[in-house]
Amino acid sequence: MDAQVLVIGGGIAGLSLAWALAPHTRVVVAEAEETLAHHTSSRSARQMQPSYGPAAIQELTHRSIAMVRDISGALAAPILAPRPLLTLGTAAEVARLLATHSQLQRVDHAETLRLSPDVRPDIFQEAALDGTAMEVDVPSLIEFYRSRAVAAGAVVLTGAPVASATATDGGFEVVAGEHVITAATVVNAAGAWADAVAAMFGVRPRGLVPHRRSVAIVSTREPVNPSGPMVEPADESYYYRPDGEHLLISPCESVPAEAGDAQVVQADIAQLIHRIDAVTTLGISGVVRSWTGLRTHPADGLPVVGFDAGVPGFFWLAGQGGYGIQTSAALATLAARLITGQLPGEDAELAAALSPQRPGL
Ligand SMILES: Cc1cc2nc3c(=O)[nH]c(=O)nc-3n(C[C@H](O)[C@H](O)[C@H](O)COP(=O)(O)OP(=O)(O)OC[C@H]3O[C@@H](n4cnc5c(N)ncnc54)[C@H](O)[C@@H]3O)c2cc1C
Repeated sequence: MDAQVLVIGGGIAGLSLAWALAPHTRVVVAEAEETLAHHTSSRSARQMQPSYGPAAIQELTHRSIAMVRDISGALAAPILAPRPLLTLGTAAEVARLLATHSQLQRVDHAETLRLSPDVRPDIFQEAALDGTAMEVDVPSLIEFYRSRAVAAGAVVLTGAPVASATATDGGFEVVAGEHVITAATVVNAAGAWADAVAAMFGVRPRGLVPHRRSVAIVSTREPVNPSGPMVEPADESYYYRPDGEHLLISPCESVPAEAGDAQVVQADIAQLIHRIDAVTTLGISGVVRSWTGLRTHPADGLPVVGFDAGVPGFFWLAGQGGYGIQTSAALATLAARLITGQLPGEDAELAAALSPQRPGL
């Protein structure tokens, strides 16, 4: 099989790039698993929060929300809905947040309790509100990327683990399951396996470390307001938000782990339930389901996006950490423009901040 661009990995990164690239070039996506988005992309909290993350992430999130809003508007059912983010803290913690995030609004104690009546009043003084934060239907967004890519001519292979690669005159010959694929450009969108895939191509790894994080959906004795905000403390040591009639909760742990099919540590969920019961009046009555995924990033916490200077034709789209959903549309567009050599001048600084050649990586 012959491709111009071979994308390794069929999570949200690989499929969004296929969507952005397929109208311009011949794209093949190779996914190791039998189902797409089997790993981290199906295990997120489904949030797009413009106030979350460093400056480059905030910029990509703003852009992505605008793009996903357009995508949502063109679909039969909307896939994007407001989910304001309320960060609880002391007056000093909230003041610090407001000083660094222009989109946040200060909310006093009484107003915070009006917005989120289930918070125990003695655990905070005031709050910062990101009223621009959104919740996105991730399976539908991924299906949008996949279907549009295929409609534009992309080939998406599942059960096709990339196991070996050979450099050729014009690029690479790659064995992916039963397929042999030649491609001028190879994109590493392999999530937790990104450094291992790089090594397969003789590319220097970038210190991309998977970190475990869990989420549980729980039932409560008191009714949950389905349109209530997402709530977290200023130290980001947990978060919760409505999930229909249930509550989605996370201990926000970040524990280095091996690449693989991440499994829930039950003790983490038990401790989390205890914590959420201590900060809300909802009363958790049972666990509906829980899952764990891997947030993979390098030491500086920014994605790694761009051509590798050491191995011509090898392109990185990895290291999205906890931001891979909220940045997918804009990051895929940026990556596609880098690959096709059409990066607009105003994006040069953003591309440099994410470059695999940046200092310290
Ligand atoms: C609990 C949790 C909550 C999160 N919440 C949010 C959130 O609210 N908002 C947000 O923006 N982000 C969130 N994230 C982060 C987000 O989910 C990730 O950044 C994103 O899913 C990463 O996508 P990916 O495509 O890079 O990785 P993946 O989805 O893991 O895809 C990589 C794919 O590459 C494949 N692969 C690996 N090696 C090979 C090979 N050799 N050959 C072929 N295929 C291969 C794998 O099988 C996998 O399917 C959360 C993450 C977790 C764990």
